[in-house]
Amino acid sequence: MLSRQFLMNRPLRVMFGLFFTFFLSSLLLVAPTARANDAWFEEIKRTATDAELYQLLYEMPKGGDLHLHISGSGFPEWWYELALAAEADGYRYYTKVRINNCRDYGGQAFKIGTPYLLMFVTLQESNWKKLPTCEQEEYVRMSSLTPDQKEGWLNSIKLDKSYEGRAEFFETHWQRLQDLAANPWLRSEIIARNFKAFSDEGLMYLEPQVSAMGYIDAQGSGITPAEVATIFESRLVEQDIRDLGLYWRFQQSILRFTPFAEEDLKQAYEFVSSQETWVAVNMVGREDDDKGHPARFLSAMRALRHKYNNVKLSIHAGEVDEPNSHVKDTLLLGADRIGHGLNLIFDPDTMLLMRHGPYMVEINLVSNLLLEYVTDYSEHPFPEYLRTGIPVALSTDDRGMWDSTMTDEFFVAVKEFNLSWEEIKLLGENSLKYSFTEPAKKKEMLKTYANRIERFEKKLARQGLSALAKDPAPRHGFVCARYALCAPSLGE
Ligand SMILES: [Zn+2]
Repeated sequence: MLSRQFLMNRPLRVMFGLFFTFFLSSLLLVAPTARANDAWFEEIKRTATDAELYQLLYEMPKGGDLHLHISGSGFPEWWYELALAAEADGYRYYTKVRINNCRDYGGQAFKIGTPYLLMFVTLQESNWKKLPTCEQEEYVRMSSLTPDQKEGWLNSIKLDKSYEGRAEFFETHWQRLQDLAANPWLRSEIIARNFKAFSDEGLMYLEPQVSAMGYIDAQGSGITPAEVATIFESRLVEQDIRDLGLYWRFQQSILRFTPFAEEDLKQAYEFVSSQETWVAVNMVGREDDDKGHPARFLSAMRALRHKYNNVKLSIHAGEVDEPNSHVKDTLLLGADRIGHGLNLIFDPDTMLLMRHGPYMVEINLVSNLLLEYVTDYSEHPFPEYLRTGIPVALSTDDRGMWDSTMTDEFFVAVKEFNLSWEEIKLLGENSLKYSFTEPAKKKEMLKTYANRIERFEKKLARQGLSALAKDPAPRHGFVCARYALCAPSLGE
């Protein structure tokens, strides 16, 4: 009865038809709307030039960098300028520009640590004076370098040649910096310059690995970790840094493969536990040196956990070529975050444990390529981790030595792995969510990040690339060399 009546009632039929059409079209709209959030970004990826995409990624608000080493993050030009500026504080630096074969046959010419046959090792005057005269003559005062020598010095701590790689980085860069890295005032300036540069890229939080141990004054006397902490902190409360609105916490790093690494670990725990701005301990150093394998530290960590209740752990693990259980062993050590985690891909049980889990992998795309842990990005496990729900965030590791930036990490990720906008936001969010900062501060930063990225997203979705600034983002050597982003036509 009802259907007959309905069929016969034309106005009702029209109304029903209209309602049905509206219902159907709204159904159709639902599905595309969910993807439409990303549609503007997909369109930009399809149509923008690399330079435009880079500009977008530079201006994009970012979260934090949870894996960077302060000394490796200083650009060579910064080290050079600060070495000269340190003369005002009584430090005079000398660097080795020739080798006069001063050491007799049978000497320790290739000694690991401070090899004699290495150019551009930089010493402060108090240590230079301790050398025999023949060796003193191999050095030139930093302020007297010829243009060629200066160029050589700058290049000597930059990993940008095809024949350079892991050995050059681990066995020469740090050894060359030598006494420059032991000046806490100079180091505090390297921190400050990094904070400014990362802030310019839209980062709001940094958790650098920076040691408070091993510093000396201009006369060569030791400076205590507590004094170093005061030197760093007093630089970072100055107005130019406060104006950035950047928040930070430090990690104390120790070298993992030395014979006294357990002793260093104890000191690191004691120091971090007593400091407000240091929140975690990290273990660094090449993992292909088996002396630093993670299981070595299990009993030491357990003993430390009996005593200390406020020290977090992020530890390098899986930054190695062969499959092994280092990531799993490192989680057992108590780490909440894994640095690199490259070989986790060969450990299915641990991968399953980490999917949608509380442990994050700090991904360093530029570092992994330059240090030859992958020969090409097609080998990198990052997209597998990201898209199977293993928490990940991007970080820069030693960007001063790669001549790169956080923008470069995002650019590589978008270009090589076709990141969606939602994935970009997830990476930004993770870089704050898995930080070791205080819970209330973390909540506040996550909220700020969400607001900033939403504003940016709306602006770009509405105005497209015309919403971007006209001044080109600064570009460094890595993206210039690999992605030809510094061609003259780009105004560089
Ligand atoms: Zn690292």
